[in-house]
Order: sequence, then structure tokens, then C-alpha cells
Amino acid sequence: MQEIMQKLKDMQECYWLNPHLSNDVPSALHSKGITPEDIEDARARLNRFATLLKILFQETRATNGIIESPLRCINDFRDALNAQISGDVYIKLDSHLPISGSIKARGGIYEVLWYAEKLLLEQGRLRVDEDYAKILEHREFLGKYKIAVGSTGNLGLSIGIMSSKLGFKVEVHMSNDAKEWKKAMLKSHGCNVITYDSDYGRAVEEGRRSAESDEFCYFIDDENSKNLFLGYSVAGKRLKAQLESLDIIISDERPLYVYLPCGVGGGPGGVAYGLKSVFGANVKCFFAEPTHSPCMFLGLLSGKHDAISVSDIGLDNKTAADGLAVGRASKLVGHVMENLIDGCFSISDSNMYKFLALMAKSEDIKLEPSALAGVNGLIFSKNLGNTHKNAIHLLWATGGNMVPDSQMREYIKEGERYL
Ligand SMILES: *Cc1c(COP(=O)(O)O)cnc(C)c1O
Repeated sequence: MQEIMQKLKDMQECYWLNPHLSNDVPSALHSKGITPEDIEDARARLNRFATLLKILFQETRATNGIIESPLRCINDFRDALNAQISGDVYIKLDSHLPISGSIKARGGIYEVLWYAEKLLLEQGRLRVDEDYAKILEHREFLGKYKIAVGSTGNLGLSIGIMSSKLGFKVEVHMSNDAKEWKKAMLKSHGCNVITYDSDYGRAVEEGRRSAESDEFCYFIDDENSKNLFLGYSVAGKRLKAQLESLDIIISDERPLYVYLPCGVGGGPGGVAYGLKSVFGANVKCFFAEPTHSPCMFLGLLSGKHDAISVSDIGLDNKTAADGLAVGRASKLVGHVMENLIDGCFSISDSNMYKFLALMAKSEDIKLEPSALAGVNGLIFSKNLGNTHKNAIHLLWATGGNMVPDSQMREYIKEGERYL
């Protein structure tokens, strides 16, 4: 452990296999106050909202109001990496999720829907067996309420867009990492965007404070939210169906290795929890973080979870991967996942850029830097215990589709310097 800790301090790329991984996945899934039944509840809720989403967002028509992303084989990228990786490599394109073009379209949107439903049910304005398209009649009522959130960009975008469509007032507290185009897009949706010249932790703090003094304000707490977590976890069962449609059956002879870019942890933690509930020990899940912001890696390695921050080991939390620029991990996720996650690894900014350019070149898939963090899972795959020639590797590509063309050209240009 000392050796790995030193590498983290030195900002060297490194990996860690979790010694606390449980060999009894079903009981580990039940041990921390969240259960697989909660995922079913979230799944049913998203299904109830499908008719409404189909009306509100054209781009969800093809999937009947279900917000889901494509799965693609990227063996050309694998071959371009030239790293002797055994097994097929797939990519989960959350970068292309409808509505907000990032993994936050799972959890962020889910929690807004959960809150709207709760208010409407409590007030007798809705029944769960009704057509939820009816909610559009209650926009004025929902407009009495405000939703607040702290974000490095993408969570704000998802929550802002969804909330404003339902009529809520929205307040997004943005860290200094947040890109101008994300703020501009939110303003165009009528959201109140407040920017701080400090990092994500402060943005969350301000959002929390603003909600404390206002009983009509609901704060979506990215550091502790069970709802966000469950919104992400629904991905597990849906991925199984997608793999099966490609005749891929995950088993102990054909394990699934999943590499998940991790910021505060809710997105990758929720997805990993959902995957473990579906595939058990046959799925191996790893968190991927920038060498400047390995907060979850540090929290799990030290066992201190949210009681330690990357600044405590001298790191600056400055990375081009804005979605991952988080210095302190989620308390909830650290605890729920400590016996379920297979391991962690880190990646430098220059390698994220390099893989971004390589992905654009070999597969014509355009991603934001954060979304490439998982690629080191392929590079480290033998160290991560993957010696199966039948294994399926899955890069969870967490964002990119909404990046403006000019910004994307700059990203690719930067990445080509390292090729
Ligand atoms: C938010 C985000 C992540 C990680 O999700 P967390 O819940 O913060 O861990 C990864 N990639 C992108 C692009 C993101 O926006």
C-alpha cells in the first residue's frame, strides 16, 4: 500500500486491486442500505416517465422515451493501441446519451423525475397508474419549487435541462472547471448559473447552503445522493440485454471487464453496482481517475473515504478531464462499493488526450477527455488480472456528444501531439 500511495503522491499512473473485494457478491450488494430491489424501483419509475420524455425530447422517440446509449465494438481502436490486449473491446457510448450527452443523463435526470413525481403524488395531482404526459399540466405548480445543484459541468447540464422542461426553477453552482459552453447552454434554458473561482467541493457546498434556507428548494447532493446512484444503476440490466442482442453471454469463461471514469463516484459507482447485481462476480469493475484527482482511489486505498482529499497528499486537483476534477470522493459510494469494486487505476492528462485523438482517428468517435480515462484499464489489463482470451472489455465513455466542434478540434489537435 505504501508503494501505491507514493505513486499517487508522485502523480504516476498506477493501479490497485481491492483486497477487500467480497467473494460473496449477493450479500455485499445487500450490506450497505441499498439493495437490488431499489434498482427495480428506479427502473419502474423511469418506465413510468417514458411517455412524458418522448414528448419533451424528440431524440428519445427512437427508444420510446427510454434514455439509453449504444454499445459498439471498437477493435480497430484496440489494434491501434498496439498493446497486446486479448479479448474484444467494446465501448458504451454514454457520450451519446439523449438530452445531455453524458453519463449524468442517467442519474441527474432520474433524481429530477423522482422529485417531481414525489411532489405531484403527495399533492394528489398524479397517480402512478396514470399517463405521465399529464405532468405537463402541472408545470406551473412545479414552478413554485427550485432545484439546486453543485457541478463541474455535466451534472448541472443534465439537471438544468430536465428541471427547466418540467417548469422548476433551477440554480446551478459551477466550479472553476466548468466550460463556458456548458454555462451558456444552461442559461439558454433559463437556468440561474452561479460560478465560483474554486473547485467542485465549494460549488456543492454553496448549492447545499442555498437550499438550506429555502423550504421550496431541493438540493441534489452529488456527494451523498442515493437517488443519483440508483438512476445510474439501472444501466446494468439494460447492458445485459444489449450484450445478449450481440450473442454475448457473460459467464466465468467469458468475464466482462468494465472501466469507469470516476469523479465523485456516483455515476461509476451506481453503474458498477447495477452491473454486479446482474452479472455477479463475472463482471470486474474498475474506477479510472486522473493522476491529479484520484479521490476515490485515495479514499479506498486509505480506507478513509470522504475523510481524505487529494490535497491532503499534495495534489492540485487540476485536470483537463473536467468531469473528473473532484478532490474528495462521495461518502455514500465509498462505503457502498468498498467490498464490490475490483480496483482502481489512474491516468495522466496527456494520455487521455492521446487516446482521445486515437479514438477519433481509428473509430470516428468523438469524446471529451474524461471519457477516455478508462483506456488505461486496457493498458493495465494483465495487471488487473485479465488473462482470459475470451474476455469482453468495456470502456464506459461518459461524455462528449455536446462538445462544440471548435472545442473538439482543439482537443484532437492537443491529442495528436502525443501520438
Ligand atoms: C460526471 C462525470 C463522470 C463521473 O461521474 P461521477 O458521478 O462524478 O463520478 C465521468 N465522466 C464525465 C464526462 C462526467 O461528466
